[in-house]
Amino acid sequence: MKDMTEGPKNVLIVGVGGQGVIMVSKVLAQLCQNQGHQVKQSEVHGMAKRGGGVFSHVRFGPQVWSPTIPEGEADILVALEWAEGLRWINYMKPDTGIFIADCQRIVPPFACRDRGRGAEPAYAPQTPGEIMEQVGTGYAMDATGMAANLGNAKAANTVLLGALSTALDFPAEDWLEVIEAFVPPRTVEINRRAFLEGREWALAGSKRIDESASGLHRRRDVVRHGPVETTVEITDEWCKGCDICVKMCPERCLRLDGRLVAELALPELCTGCRMCELLCPDFAIRITNTPVMEAAG
Ligand code: SF4
Ligand code: SF4
Repeated sequence: MKDMTEGPKNVLIVGVGGQGVIMVSKVLAQLCQNQGHQVKQSEVHGMAKRGGGVFSHVRFGPQVWSPTIPEGEADILVALEWAEGLRWINYMKPDTGIFIADCQRIVPPFACRDRGRGAEPAYAPQTPGEIMEQVGTGYAMDATGMAANLGNAKAANTVLLGALSTALDFPAEDWLEVIEAFVPPRTVEINRRAFLEGREWALAGSKRIDESASGLHRRRDVVRHGPVETTVEITDEWCKGCDICVKMCPERCLRLDGRLVAELALPELCTGCRMCELLCPDFAIRITNTPVMEAAG
């Protein structure tokens, strides 16, 4: 018989719309239920498209009364987006909370304050190293990069589930059984591999930073404002013509062509701000800003 005096376990999952926060929370809730726990889940959805904050509270144990986690009471914080993780960090238990975050940055459009060429958008300045100093157990991982290497960047949430699985006492096969029931049949294999890769990565230490992950390791105060040459690469096959990049480009230099695929119509206006790259839900745009030498004189 379960000890009814034992408090519930609290897992807070955060990210932005379109990343799969709800999938992570549903998998966890279902698994906890399968394991005989009482489960309560509450969620707040943001915008349907990328940009709006989404969070979900999952509480499980022998007896759970409230569906919401009080501030300072989350045993585990899972962040699908770096700044969202930082926004919720005070919800973690101060000494024992576990922080699991993808280092990927999704910068909201209002963060694009400087329209100069090569300027960085305003974003949370803390580096993964600084955050790891504040937490007992933490993982700053390149979940999106790991999933992309497996062939589908959208499986980043399953990579994070793999890391989460190391913090909870449920068998890996039970996790996989639930994940396989939740993902589209054609993505079962890739999600299986994403889970195992995330799990293996987290099992290698109790405080880990993926040094190859995004530009987060750079301090924002050393942002380069020198001249740059910008290349905009659009992968036609991945573009679904949603129009987000066209609407959000501060310089209005993108448009949809006759096939409803994004194209750079006015390259001379592009500042390389990367807003389109960061907001594209299908990772169809890649911006490269290469510093160029200024002529002497
Ligand atoms: S490039 Fe991305 S954001 Fe732009 S229209 Fe295509 S899918 Fe949408
Ligand atoms: S095309 Fe992309 S990188 Fe260039 S200005 Fe527009 S949003 Fe910024």
